[in-house]
Amino acid sequence: MSKLKIAIQKSGRLSEKSLELLKNCGIKISNGDRKLKTEAQNFPIEVLFLRDDDIPQYVEQGVADIGILGENEVWEKGKEVQIIEKLGFANCKLSLAIPKDENYPGLSYFNNKKVATSYPKMLQKYFDEKNIKVEIEEIGGSVEIAPGIGLANAIFDIVSTGSTLLMNGLKEVEVVTNSTAVLIANKKLPKEKQEILDKLLFRIKAVRTAAENKYILLNAPVSAVEKITSILPGMKAPTILPLAEEGWVSIHSVVKEDEFWEVIDQLKTIGAQGILVVPIEKMVL
Ligand code: ATP
Ligand code: MG
Repeated sequence: MSKLKIAIQKSGRLSEKSLELLKNCGIKISNGDRKLKTEAQNFPIEVLFLRDDDIPQYVEQGVADIGILGENEVWEKGKEVQIIEKLGFANCKLSLAIPKDENYPGLSYFNNKKVATSYPKMLQKYFDEKNIKVEIEEIGGSVEIAPGIGLANAIFDIVSTGSTLLMNGLKEVEVVTNSTAVLIANKKLPKEKQEILDKLLFRIKAVRTAAENKYILLNAPVSAVEKITSILPGMKAPTILPLAEEGWVSIHSVVKEDEFWEVIDQLKTIGAQGILVVPIEKMVL
């Protein structure tokens, strides 16, 4: 039987989360001895551990069928691959930053300036679209030190909290784009591999949906049921169970993680008590 080959980052920010995602999908992988390649024990998948920069190329060529990496690398490499699913981790911004004491009049600042980056193609495209002429200095890493050592006037790099910028006397002036980890795939997967990918995707979606939702249980007077049902519609409708105390029920439903605090406030106002919120492990709609 054929196996789906998935490329993930060997060591770096994406490695642990990528393995964790596969594990949450019920796929057992042992990589104790840090091999280059390993097979899952209970799913037709083979995992290749590679440098994230190389993943788009390998997926384009079919050395790997699918891969997990940051959108930023997919854009920069510009290879012929398809982005299948956003995975919701390794979220970051790609921003332009300049020395913090410089006056910033807007994008025109960059006219005829030198900008250091590890993402030259993305940056060139951005400035071309804005009709601004810059000189791009490509460097492999530690981009944030470039202005300090006189290599460039500004930088274009990944920013998460901004503390690295601050430490190097820089300030963020433009957010060019946001990036998140994605699942990419070869454009011409044979049918058997596509079927394995569909199975994997089904599981990934169940894991992602579960992470975005919480299970909520609460007690309420019967008179409040209608209002609570409208606030907590649930997957189909909430479960309502009688309590041993006359006139009271227990209501079970799901609530979106990001609406959670607001919903709790509303529920309390209309008389809900003993509210419990618990994580959901998998959720299939
Ligand atoms: P190498 O190529 O040597 O394996 P790298 O520097 O390309 O390493 P990492 O630093 O591990 O890779 O980052 C991998 C990906 O994680 C990046 O391409 C980006 O999508 C995302 N990322 C990077 N820095 C951050 C950050 N500070 N916060 C969130 N996500 C980040
Ligand atoms: Mg890399």
